[in-house]
Amino acid sequence: MAQPVRGARTIRRAVVTGGAGFLGSHLCEHLLDRGVEVVCLDNFLTGSPENVLHLMERPGFRLVRCDVTDYVHVPGPVDLVLHFASPASPLDYLKMPIETLKVGSLGTLHTLGLAREKGARYVLASTSEVYGDPLVHPQPEEYWGNVNPVGPRGVYDEAKRFSEALTTAYRSSRGTDTGIVRIFNTYGPRMRFDDGRAIPAFVGQALSGRPLTVAGDGSQTRSICYVDDTVTGILAMAFSGHAGPVNIGNPDELSMLRLAEWIVELTDSDSSVEFIDLPVDDPKVRRPDTTLAEKLLDWRPQVPSEEGLRRTVDWFAGQLSAREARVG
Ligand code: NAD
Repeated sequence: MAQPVRGARTIRRAVVTGGAGFLGSHLCEHLLDRGVEVVCLDNFLTGSPENVLHLMERPGFRLVRCDVTDYVHVPGPVDLVLHFASPASPLDYLKMPIETLKVGSLGTLHTLGLAREKGARYVLASTSEVYGDPLVHPQPEEYWGNVNPVGPRGVYDEAKRFSEALTTAYRSSRGTDTGIVRIFNTYGPRMRFDDGRAIPAFVGQALSGRPLTVAGDGSQTRSICYVDDTVTGILAMAFSGHAGPVNIGNPDELSMLRLAEWIVELTDSDSSVEFIDLPVDDPKVRRPDTTLAEKLLDWRPQVPSEEGLRRTVDWFAGQLSAREARVG
């Protein structure tokens, strides 16, 4: 199969940290589809080998249990390092604050070291959370954000802000070919039912006939991007030479209440909506300005939310039936 060419360099072999997680597993799959060998590094803190089970037989795929905060050693050539290891859902990083800060600091340091040693392109998975509770809307890359460093979410937001600073320093002072993507809320198959993020929570509640728990009055907004679109944007960045940061997300914005109602419709559920307390420092609005991604990467999301949500609901429904069949 023809190998993807990036500038004068051919990408033959990639390392994906956090490759057994939600986004990482889709990245591994898309890279293999493009003829790139993949070394997937994961300590299974929030991910699972099950997410890459279907890739185990594919030529060129290797799964290695590794905590990237200890050290990172990969024998052989590496052309691309995608650093995606980190707890990502608020439930996970609030439960694991130190692990989150360590993977954002030590994990980023070690993976940048790997990219430097191998002369590889490096892409950091940053996040829209670097904008915090934004005072500018929608958020362009030039906006510096509004983050509370000592609030509960600070462990994630500041870990990612530090990662961005370290990545930028490796580019300017060590000459490493780095890129930063700021990913906005992404959803799709292989999210965990219990990861605390709104879409799996709502779908799980709707499929089992429980009330959908909407935080606050549900008027806070998010922009949700289907996983295939996010992965295409990340890989466009990986195969470019751009430094970023570049926002990757879907500018279609919707309120949490509308999202809950939509999921009730799509699942044909008769679940009601129940309002619960808003989490501390919860952002009120979130929408990417994607002008830069369109200009630099010629990338824009293609999957309409209705279609993406339908595919996601179908996947979760399949998981639930398989689980019920196993139980008896
Ligand atoms: P996820 O929790 O499903 O995946 C993270 C993976 O990293 C897991 O497999 C976990 O086991 C692994 N991991 C954590 N600490 C590790 C360590 N020390 N060593 C090795 N592996 C480790 O989360 P996700 O949603 O797939 O997010 C992946 C990346 O994308 C994260 O860096 C996250 O910050 C970023 N991101 C995701 C979203 C989103 O909407 N999903 C949005 C913005 C940014």
